[in-house]
Amino acid sequence: MMAQEGGPPILLSLFMFLLMLSAQCGCHPHSAGSIRSLAAAGAVSNQTASEDIAAEVAGYTDVAKKIIDLAVFGAAQNRSHRRLADFTDTIGNRVSGSHNLELAIKYMYNAVSQDGLDVHLEPVKIPHWVRGKESAEMIAPRAKSLAILGLGSSVGTPAEGIEAEVLVVQSFEELKRRASEAIGKIVVFNQPFVSYGETVAYRELGASEAAKVGAVASLIRSVTPFSINSPHTGWQDYQDGVKRIPTACITIEDAELMSRMAQRGQKVVVRLTMEAKTLPDADSFNTVAEITGWQHPEQVVLLSGHLDSWDVGQGAMDDGGGAMISWEALSLIKDLGLRPRRTLRAVLWTAEEQGGVGAQQYFDLHKVNMSNFDLVMESDMGTFNPVALQFTGNDAARKVMEEVVKLLAPINTTKLEVHGEGTDISPWLKAGVPGASLHVADSRYFWFHHSEGDTMTVQDPQEMNLCSALWAVVAYVVADLQDMLPR
Ligand SMILES: [Zn+2]
Repeated sequence: MMAQEGGPPILLSLFMFLLMLSAQCGCHPHSAGSIRSLAAAGAVSNQTASEDIAAEVAGYTDVAKKIIDLAVFGAAQNRSHRRLADFTDTIGNRVSGSHNLELAIKYMYNAVSQDGLDVHLEPVKIPHWVRGKESAEMIAPRAKSLAILGLGSSVGTPAEGIEAEVLVVQSFEELKRRASEAIGKIVVFNQPFVSYGETVAYRELGASEAAKVGAVASLIRSVTPFSINSPHTGWQDYQDGVKRIPTACITIEDAELMSRMAQRGQKVVVRLTMEAKTLPDADSFNTVAEITGWQHPEQVVLLSGHLDSWDVGQGAMDDGGGAMISWEALSLIKDLGLRPRRTLRAVLWTAEEQGGVGAQQYFDLHKVNMSNFDLVMESDMGTFNPVALQFTGNDAARKVMEEVVKLLAPINTTKLEVHGEGTDISPWLKAGVPGASLHVADSRYFWFHHSEGDTMTVQDPQEMNLCSALWAVVAYVVADLQDMLPR
């Protein structure tokens, strides 16, 4: 028992001790050789350690199969999809500060307690931006209504709207080059979609960049690779000391239309009317469900998704799915009568879309217990077909996780990738806590993201079964291993 528990440290101190001895006597003809062979022994013990962890994790093959069977073929089949449909059909979308978000939290609190899990709420103050009525029309060179969605945190226009000529640019560089032409105009950004991570800068910073060169409003081409005339909203950031001008997203189709007209030398005029405003911060909650660990209740494996959404569509994909599979993972483990050594905690964040507000507060409140957070997990890129687990941690932790994902062979998702980061878990990862994100076949994710198209119709029950199975196996096994993940 002793040798097993204290294995590597004892070997290490023995090694140091012998190293000291050999340094002290100095005269030993074989001292260098002895050190070499001891170093070799160290390598052997590392090897043994990884064989040990491989054997320990392989011991979970049967239980992993049971979880997978229950989620994918058994009584729990399609349950996370059914739960998501019931939740999003009943509540609808759930933007930060809205009555719907309050209803959503109550709904989940009740549903999770009825499921027999421990659940509690942790209060958070969250932003309260309201869209109000909004519209945009092209006045010249011909009349046409434009589909828009105001961007989160935007100010409104005067009641009569803003009518101005348009300056279409393809990039921030072009805006700088043509700064003198922007004064008094509505800047239309018609930037091509490269990737969400890169292109989203236009949505986040476009209004302030346009205001700096004297624009009166800005319209941003939606950050999506695909469109059937759908505007996609999202959060935007005003820069300090820069005039706050109204800003909305427009469709790819309308951005390209205005771009072509401008290239022909036609004068394009748009009238924009927005009632958007920011109200005082609202009261909200992170929703926390748990299965308490039997041996180390204070140690935690955290699974998460966010409960809030944008105020369009149903927020089924972003991120109802991530929230539901995190709950479902706990349900599967409970249904099988399992209880891991450590606590499994599903956290359904509030106000993620406003910059991870609920998650940041959770980190600030709980970081004092950082050494007890074993692994933090987030699903916020959709719950389509799972392809891999993305993981951030040191090499020793990665070795453990490589063994854990082998247990997912029955659903063919044994790949462990890099970059476990996600908005809501990133504070933990930056502080050195191992983190994991769900990687799904997400090519369609940004088609629907933050638009009216984010509905139950894009969700598939079988895909959600697979996501739930993966989520549950990884969380359960890590929470039940002898040791926490190395960090
Ligand atoms: Zn999201």
